Amino acid sequence: MKISTIEFSSDRRQFMLNTVAGSLLIGAGVKASAQDLVSESDPQALGLAYKADATKVDKSKQPKYAAGQACSSCALYQGAAGSAAGICPLFAGKQVSAKAWCSAWAKKA
Ligand code: SF4
Repeated sequence: MKISTIEFSSDRRQFMLNTVAGSLLIGAGVKASAQDLVSESDPQALGLAYKADATKVDKSKQPKYAAGQACSSCALYQGAAGSAAGICPLFAGKQVSAKAWCSAWAKKA
């Protein structure tokens, strides 16, 4: 009788460990996807002429673009100074590259 209690306890402990480990993995997956970079093919990106590399912006199609403009110098960019990517409120749930550009670019004050 006592042995089965120990076995049950061991099974329960393993179940709890598996549950916690599974929860952590799911949480890590959610966090990773929340920090995915915006793709140029995302509908919102297409609408704003988002380019992951600002130097690739076609100036004939985007006359507002000027060399040197990028997300890192945009007023909406919320990434830390020197970061490779950061949050932009125009792209909820994803990050924009610090080197990217879109037609909503506004000079950082
Ligand atoms: Fe980058 Fe600014 Fe456009 Fe956001 S609004 S994607 S920070 S250029």
